[in-house]
Amino acid sequence: MKSLAEHEGTMTNGGIDVANSNGNESNLPGATDVDVVVVGAGFAGLYLLHRLRGLGMSAQCFETAAGVGGTWYWNRYPGARCDVESIDYSYSFDAELDEEWRWSERYATQPEILSYLEHVAGRFDLLQDIRFSTRVEAATWDDEQSLWRLRTDVGEDVACRHYVMATGCLSQPKTSEIEGHGRFGGEIYFTSRWPHEGVDFSGKRVGVIGTGSSAIQSIPVIAKQSKELTVFQRTPNFSIPARNGPDTAEKRAAADRDRAAYREQARRSRAGVPVEVAESGAMMVSEEERNERFEKAWSVGGLFATIGAFNDMLVNLTSNETLAEFIRDKIRGIVKDPVTAEALCPTNHPFGTKRPCLDDNYYDTYNQPHVKLVDLLKDPIQTITETGIDTAAVSHTFFTIVFATGFDAMTGAIVSVDITGRKGLRLADKWAEGPKTYLGLTTVGFPNFFAITGPGSPSVLSNMAVSIEQHVDWVCDLLGDLCKRGVDTIEPTEMAEAGWVQHVNDYADITLYPRANSWYMGANVPGKARVFLPYVGGVGNYRAICEEVVEKDYLGFTLDGEGQRQCNDGIIRRLQPDVAIMLGVMASMDLPPLESLSVGEARAFIAETQKQRAPGPDVGEIVDGQFPGATRDLDYRLYRPASPGPHPIVAYFHGGGWVLGGAASDDPLCRDLCVQSDAIIISMDYRHAPEERFPAAPDDGYAAVQWIADRAESLGGVPGQLAVTGWSAGANVAAVVCQTSRDSQGPAIAGQVLLTPVTDATKALSSKAENAEGYVLTSTLMDWFWDHYADPIDRANPKASPLRAADLSELPPALVVTCEFDPLRDEGAAYADALTAAGVDVEHLSARGQIHTSIPAVDMLRSGAYARQAMATALKQFFATSVSV
Ligand code: FAD
Ligand code: NAP
Repeated sequence: MKSLAEHEGTMTNGGIDVANSNGNESNLPGATDVDVVVVGAGFAGLYLLHRLRGLGMSAQCFETAAGVGGTWYWNRYPGARCDVESIDYSYSFDAELDEEWRWSERYATQPEILSYLEHVAGRFDLLQDIRFSTRVEAATWDDEQSLWRLRTDVGEDVACRHYVMATGCLSQPKTSEIEGHGRFGGEIYFTSRWPHEGVDFSGKRVGVIGTGSSAIQSIPVIAKQSKELTVFQRTPNFSIPARNGPDTAEKRAAADRDRAAYREQARRSRAGVPVEVAESGAMMVSEEERNERFEKAWSVGGLFATIGAFNDMLVNLTSNETLAEFIRDKIRGIVKDPVTAEALCPTNHPFGTKRPCLDDNYYDTYNQPHVKLVDLLKDPIQTITETGIDTAAVSHTFFTIVFATGFDAMTGAIVSVDITGRKGLRLADKWAEGPKTYLGLTTVGFPNFFAITGPGSPSVLSNMAVSIEQHVDWVCDLLGDLCKRGVDTIEPTEMAEAGWVQHVNDYADITLYPRANSWYMGANVPGKARVFLPYVGGVGNYRAICEEVVEKDYLGFTLDGEGQRQCNDGIIRRLQPDVAIMLGVMASMDLPPLESLSVGEARAFIAETQKQRAPGPDVGEIVDGQFPGATRDLDYRLYRPASPGPHPIVAYFHGGGWVLGGAASDDPLCRDLCVQSDAIIISMDYRHAPEERFPAAPDDGYAAVQWIADRAESLGGVPGQLAVTGWSAGANVAAVVCQTSRDSQGPAIAGQVLLTPVTDATKALSSKAENAEGYVLTSTLMDWFWDHYADPIDRANPKASPLRAADLSELPPALVVTCEFDPLRDEGAAYADALTAAGVDVEHLSARGQIHTSIPAVDMLRSGAYARQAMATALKQFFATSVSV
């Protein structure tokens, strides 16, 4: 059997003349052979060469293949096409090129895409700068000379100022880890290294390993030719009909009407394709409407219609499951043998978390008598033999085996070059636990190094033609600018890189993607670190971030050279992504500041906005009632768990600055706490300002815990198992209640959970100034609340400002949750510190990237889920360690 490397060696030139001239002189100081080395001559490398020439920079491109095209040079397997419509999956940088090239089909074939890229290379005269059949093997940063020294497999060395890897996300084939793969005596092919002369399957018995996109495209075509076809499936994949055909007139008309606008819309879109974004989630419509939309998407075909049918497919598991089941039903409807149909139904990952495939009669292929599916989950491959493949149960004999087993994606091609940066740091070592980049483009320790569509950029989650152009433009604009400024080196800072890695992970974590063992997660390659590799924030948003980095004078980069030395350190995105999206939506609504309204208007406004929020989980029972407050009856709402009682009880005090809200106003959070802590949560109202000012609220709070303690059993509680919690002003009430109860020998309180509490009106702590504006609770709104609630003289009273209590000892154990972008952050932190200093058992959870209002947003802001869980866990712990009376 031939190895992958031998397969590469059998490739022919692909019809392109190999020319190696290097026209431009280096225009940078120092001993550089060229200004820029570009590795790879696919979509990215070709556009780079064009742009660099426009900048007047000398560039040399090296390419392992004997021709241009990258992906489209190598992947010549039968049925290979794009899965983003060709009208979108093409260059936009040149209006004339865009105008003159016409695609023959909705999804062009590999030969057509390759001839397009060859046309581009010829049209822009790029071949002279490309050295084909030449692999870059090593690159070392020379710190003294501030340049890169590269070594190729033809023994040629080259020095350059800037080194750009345009080596592709899906260009490094995964080596076969199947035992015995060298033994097979028949023909072996890899979809990723297909012979130029093609393969004749006629009359042959063929085995295909894999059911990813490459397999799903090729299987129907191979089935047509072969005598017998056996497909070895480890993980069934979701596949959508491509509905390929001639270029769609509707889409063509939309693009032709105003091509520049069409392209610009793609650039600012989520996935690099101008499509309408659905406004509702799948569970917000009736089952009938949901299925209608799925049917429509299925009949239109294509990835974007399906995944875009609703706006929450990749974040809401319940919504996702409705689509997954819809597709499974389609599979069951198409494939006649029920055992095969069931084996083809994906059940171990949500739809879209592994790249969904586009097909042309894939499922129907299994209705042909000569096509068989082997479900490796039931009957795994043991070894490849001289004559075929042995599974645990059967010895299969083949003439030909096709490996459609995928790639070492996103990092494979980069780290397969021995890249050494400053102080001998090897990139492969630096990335051993997962790639670390700033913007997916650059990495600390490797100055003047750029990776086009590198890990941490939208890349494979987008129309890559759009992402490639954006990266190339960004890098080339930057190189042009640095040259003008007299800057020799650029390198990201540790802080910027760590911040970006965190942001990429934060984004992935609010989606369903990490639930799948996908190549997005590095899970397909044995031993590879499990890290979500691409940036899921979308191309439009990502483009805006890259632009902002430059607008902020290269935020997160160190620039160095005769002309300029600077280090503009910082983190480009610190808010949790879902919080940022919510703030963006709010900003676009141009809402009036709450403090500009009358109290009545503000209350009406809050009541209206609460109608829009997600309801929170179901609980066993909800009971509304009244209790005697300090001076009059007040409302409560009791949330009982579904589990058999009795349960511990938690008195909850709502947020709203002592002015807004009521017993039901934090409904989703109370439900969530009830379900997660398995305790009764009773949301106890208190009198509100300005009608009833300080100390009405804490007096009612204390009356509330006394009332609960007196009748715990009749409420379904465990006597003596009582805790308090609250949010914002409600957390202030909860903290004061604990102090009052201690001082008045009141009910025993097992613990206090204080979510972003107000603790001291008298101190101007730095978070109040830092987060004064932009994060919903503003400093002026906080002042508005205080003005309504308490006279200045009363604000120093510990019943208003519990941090000012003379003695904080002997208080119940506490969890204090503070949020990074909250004017009240430092008040909460100071209270946690003061309690600790007084000997109280305290946990302080500092919620990174959160704002004052984000933790209570149950089912809306997933990034706050861990803090809600921590609150419930703390309550459980309080009860576990408290003694029942
Ligand atoms: P590539 O096209 O991968 O080119 C990289 C080049 O670098 C290769 O030619 C390689 O030989 C060369 N190289 C690598 N390492 C070295 C080295 N050390 N020295 C010298 N040369 C080196 N994306 C979409 O958006 N839509 C699609 O429909 C789509 N379909 C795809 C279909 C297939 C079968 C595959 C595998 C991928 C598909 N992709 C698709 C992703 C596709 O890879 C990108 O769209 C795009 O073609 C990548 O272009 P590139 O120039 O960045 O990288
Ligand atoms: P892939 O999606 O990684 O699929 C590889 C397949 O091989 C999977 O089914 C995998 O199973 C299986 N496999 C791998 N190792 C195996 C082993 N040791 N034993 C048994 N099965 C094994 O690779 P791909 O199909 O080449 O596609 C990669 C990406 O390229 C796509 O996701 C897409 O982005 C792009 N692409 C696009 C198109 C297009 O339609 N335009 C076509 C081809 C490729 P597991 O899932 O269990 O790992």
